[in-house]
Amino acid sequence: MDPIQQAVERIYIATEGKVDKDTIIKKLREYITMGVPLREAERSVVTIYGGSSYALITVPKKVEELTPGEPRINLRVKVISINSKTYELEGEKRTMHYGIIGDETGTVPFTAWRLDVALRKGDCVDIINAYTREWQGRVQVIIGNNTKVKLLKDVDIQVKTAIKPAKIIELHPKIGLVEVKGKIIDSREKEVFVDGIPRKVWEGIIGDETGEVPFSAWDVEVNKGDVIKIVGAYVRTFRGMPQLVFDNRCTIEKLNEDIEVHEIPVTLESLEGRGGFNAVVEGVIIDIKNGSGLIYRCPECGRVLSSRTCPMHGKVEPKADLRIKAVLDDGTGATLLIFNREQTERILGMNLKDVIKMVQDNMGNSAVVMEAIEDKLIAVPMRVRGNAISDERYGLKTLVRDFEFLNLEDIAKKAQHLLEELGW
Ligand SMILES: [Zn+2]
Repeated sequence: MDPIQQAVERIYIATEGKVDKDTIIKKLREYITMGVPLREAERSVVTIYGGSSYALITVPKKVEELTPGEPRINLRVKVISINSKTYELEGEKRTMHYGIIGDETGTVPFTAWRLDVALRKGDCVDIINAYTREWQGRVQVIIGNNTKVKLLKDVDIQVKTAIKPAKIIELHPKIGLVEVKGKIIDSREKEVFVDGIPRKVWEGIIGDETGEVPFSAWDVEVNKGDVIKIVGAYVRTFRGMPQLVFDNRCTIEKLNEDIEVHEIPVTLESLEGRGGFNAVVEGVIIDIKNGSGLIYRCPECGRVLSSRTCPMHGKVEPKADLRIKAVLDDGTGATLLIFNREQTERILGMNLKDVIKMVQDNMGNSAVVMEAIEDKLIAVPMRVRGNAISDERYGLKTLVRDFEFLNLEDIAKKAQHLLEELGW
């Protein structure tokens, strides 16, 4: 839109449709030809026709253009769903409305602290002077105290609702709204305060035949063992991994079936930039990083120390520990693996005491531990399960939950099995 066209749209909204656009454009041109600057001309035209000039400082937006933190926006949308919740704030009963609105470009959740008109599902409205913010990793429209909501008659909006069916393995933050079917593997109820209002959230793990993902369900009770279908959930990144988020704006259906949750190995490429909860990867160890082997930690904070002084706790008696930082490559990408003490002992076939003794026998030179680790791990094929955390600067880091050594025969057998399953 050119600036004049934009001005006409703003004036039209600010005068609440009392004058048609042709009249506005004629009047606006008169002012401009008299040498009045556009902004000033705009205000004058609004005042002439009895509009509210504060509406002029707002910007018309389409849903797909919205980003968090935008002040003063105007939207023309259809109400897809609306719910309300009554709560007590400082002894006073108040009602909050929330739901989903949409236009030709997409859908977005909204929260209204106050509504000029009673809204129902299917209503088309102009929302003037709302703002946006981020909530659980997604943009949300807020209808605040200075927002005007105007019901539109004889207007229909074709809402673009793109909800994509997805398997859990496919979930990543850029996928948009999804339809997911899964089994609740774990769920805990929590009460949290959002803007002073108590809300219930269930957090846990949901899985299907392709994998598992953490979820948070707002005001929706989900219990361990439930098999559910959620339509309209979305995915955000939380602690470097994808998380499924849904609330009672979504359509949630309890299913009378069972789902077998599997963990199938994924490529490291598919985890890049998104991470993965409890991901299974298979590859070959190509490098052992410095800082592996026998290390000493502050007994207070667990920080790895190179002397008897902790930057936080001063002089301490450091505690011996074992860990391995190794790089696993699967041909599509790489991840740093972190093995803890118990896993390191299993890999070395030695316990911590043996390792300390080995270092002492080597005149205190701990390089001998590094060599032992390299002997056991370099070029060794491995299957690893753990949380793969995505970090923009350092790439993927996987905290190993469990692991097994593979032999090449296993890998060949598995490939054969997979081909058979695919009907080859
Ligand atoms: Zn410390």
